[in-house]
Amino acid sequence: MVDLKGQYEDIKKEVNDSIAEILDSSAFINGPHVHAFQKELEAYLGVKHVIPCANGTDALQICMMGLGLQPGDEVITADFTFAATVEVIALLNLVPVLVDVEPDTFNIDIKAVEKAITPKTKAIVPVHLFGQCANMDAIMELAEKHGLYVIEDNAQAIGATYSSKNGKKQKAGTIGHVASTSFFPSKNLGCYGDGGAIFTNDDDLAHIIRGMVNHGMYKRYYHDVVGVNSRLDSIQAAVLRAKLPKLDSYNQKRWEAAMKYSKAFQGQEHIVTPKISCVCGETKNCCDCHVFHQYTLKITNGKRDALVQHLNDNNVPCGVYYPVPLHRQKAYLDSRYNETDFPVTNQLVEEVISLPMHTELDDEQIQYITKLVIDFVNK
Ligand SMILES: *Cc1c(COP(=O)(O)O)cnc(C)c1O
Repeated sequence: MVDLKGQYEDIKKEVNDSIAEILDSSAFINGPHVHAFQKELEAYLGVKHVIPCANGTDALQICMMGLGLQPGDEVITADFTFAATVEVIALLNLVPVLVDVEPDTFNIDIKAVEKAITPKTKAIVPVHLFGQCANMDAIMELAEKHGLYVIEDNAQAIGATYSSKNGKKQKAGTIGHVASTSFFPSKNLGCYGDGGAIFTNDDDLAHIIRGMVNHGMYKRYYHDVVGVNSRLDSIQAAVLRAKLPKLDSYNQKRWEAAMKYSKAFQGQEHIVTPKISCVCGETKNCCDCHVFHQYTLKITNGKRDALVQHLNDNNVPCGVYYPVPLHRQKAYLDSRYNETDFPVTNQLVEEVISLPMHTELDDEQIQYITKLVIDFVNK
């Protein structure tokens, strides 16, 4: 699904030199690379504050802690996402409220969000799934109307640009009140272990969160709030510093691979290719409006599971993200949910399949994969 070796070859010297320097200096935690990476990512995103932390799940949890959400507060998020999003809501004794998604973009359905708002609702967590931003114009408008926080789960869309209806362009993760991201190795900007970060333009919130990631300390050994221990280590920061200047070119390569896939699948009756919902108006070179963390098809003639088997048999990796809706996961069952509330997610879990997507895909591989898929689906 991903080819991390090819990327490494390209940055090997820089990464190896930085790691050797860190080993020599013994500055494993909070070394100069962590601070430098924070500044470089702030500049890249155009956001006032980046707070590095240990992983994307911690990042989400800390966002919610930083906003002061209290047990019993309701947090609305998508039914069709990775479990980390709902997990941290539950862990903090907040009430997860899962809602359906849109059939074409796979992102949270704004009408379903609106319907789910109650007097107890405190926050919305849109997930920019598979590399494309949720409908942030509508989400921010709704949040403002109801006095809600917006926490962007940007684990899958780092580097993506969101174009608003009014023409304003902002990087994913800099639009809501606060955002989280993950540097898990297979994400678009991945390190060589675990890593994550929180972004915000709010000075006060950034200050609160900086203490929270470090045991609630604002002055050494004075613990003002209950915090956690969540740090990005120096070695991971050094890897990320080598990759950040290349993120746009990585995302461009993903975009090009996605366009080749979609071209090959054009006109196929039973194969639905990903929809790009960008309103930027640039149809040719808008390769940052979807950064294709995943390239996900819908197979509409009931052959998805058989196709997975067929690709595996032919040594082509593929993935089903996600095979079970969160509202049907044992850990998150809730008597408030009705199956009729989730028609889209319930259908997506039967139809979606993600094909190999990374920066090293070549034309021959794409041709081989698309032919296998097309021949099998039409058989
Ligand atoms: C990967 C991911 C996370 C969690 O990130 P980790 O660094 O693995 O903890 C959270 N949300 C989404 C949508 C993800 O894809």
